[in-house]
Amino acid sequence: MKIHEYQAKSLFSSYGIPVEQHILCHSEEEALAAYTELDMEKVMIKAQVLAGGRGKAGGVKLAKSADDVMNYTSSMLQMKIKDLPVTRVLVSEAVNIETEFYLSFSIDRKNKSVIMMLSSEGGVEIEEVAKYTPENIYKVNIDPFIGMPDYIARRIAFFLFDDMDLVNQMVQILQNMYQLMIDKDASLVEINPLVLTEEGNLIALDAKMSFDDSALYRQEDICFFSEPTEEEEMELHAKAKGFSYVHLTGDIGCMVNGAGLAMATMDLIKLNEGCPANFLDIGGSSNPKKITEAMKLLLEDDRLKVILVNIFGGITRCDDVANGLLKAYELLHADIPVVVRLTGTNEEEGRALLRSSNFLVTDTMGEAVRAAVNLSIKAG
Ligand code: GDP
Ligand code: MN
Repeated sequence: MKIHEYQAKSLFSSYGIPVEQHILCHSEEEALAAYTELDMEKVMIKAQVLAGGRGKAGGVKLAKSADDVMNYTSSMLQMKIKDLPVTRVLVSEAVNIETEFYLSFSIDRKNKSVIMMLSSEGGVEIEEVAKYTPENIYKVNIDPFIGMPDYIARRIAFFLFDDMDLVNQMVQILQNMYQLMIDKDASLVEINPLVLTEEGNLIALDAKMSFDDSALYRQEDICFFSEPTEEEEMELHAKAKGFSYVHLTGDIGCMVNGAGLAMATMDLIKLNEGCPANFLDIGGSSNPKKITEAMKLLLEDDRLKVILVNIFGGITRCDDVANGLLKAYELLHADIPVVVRLTGTNEEEGRALLRSSNFLVTDTMGEAVRAAVNLSIKAG
């Protein structure tokens, strides 16, 4: 889960990581009031979206007058950055930058630890630095049992500074950031740029944080920041019902039992030049109620041209699945074709139940997928 810059900055502040003065605004009027409240000639207007690269997209502007504040806020609030509408901006103190650095903590899966990355090339995309001048990125793996004691934080700080005042400021930032990462189960805490101001202070001028979704159950205050997109909303809804669901871009709705079979189904659809609308693993049980719920979930998606049900009966009994499908059909009045492939335990019984229904029942997976792709093309 990602959060906005202003949300990350509120966490930074509560962990003693210095940020510039800023006020969150939802309208031009609010931005103007914020400009008056900050009482500075120059302010920055920063679009708040859950996507990177907003500076390049025109989402960061220096305003030197009330008119500028109005104009920039107004145009940003009509803007989309990477397809995401901008609904809020930060009006913040314009900082006098001496130097820009990059600093982040993320998860290094290979080394099973948190990794700190620091670079004197801040403000630009770190991927570019990694590609062209990797020697300018200083990396330190943080041992989870040692954490970030003074001696390690100092060693890192000396990579950038000789001046003891700056070293001390940097040590505080490193220790607080690491603590924030651990306390909140973050998967990324990034400051780009971390700036040294002309006045000699280190400030986090931008703030990016992501969190481990699997840990959100114990992070109430972080969940509070959550703003799921429509697609994520659907995925959460499915998860609450015990399904594993991933939203995809196509028009063939899939209902499969088992993640492996679901993946194989996606592959076979693609191989036949169709496009799945989702990955849906309904799991092992063949409770007819579950089938109805899954069907309901699929039918909420109005992009679907056809539904493909691919079931391998192991513990799952095909006759149970068939009964669930019939019940779902009765309840939901689906008006799109449904192709069913049932094989395994009680397959004969299952197929017999469906024979007199409106479902298109096939014997093999290949047949089912081809039929579904053809129907999707015909409807397309
Ligand atoms: P991003 O594009 O989403 O990463 O937006 P940032 O908030 O990181 O801003 C992009 C760039 O704008 C920074 O690297 C700075 O060079 C510049 N910038 C942002 N805030 C200020 C500021 O207060 N003063 C000055 N002089 N430049 C700023
Ligand atoms: Mn940035």
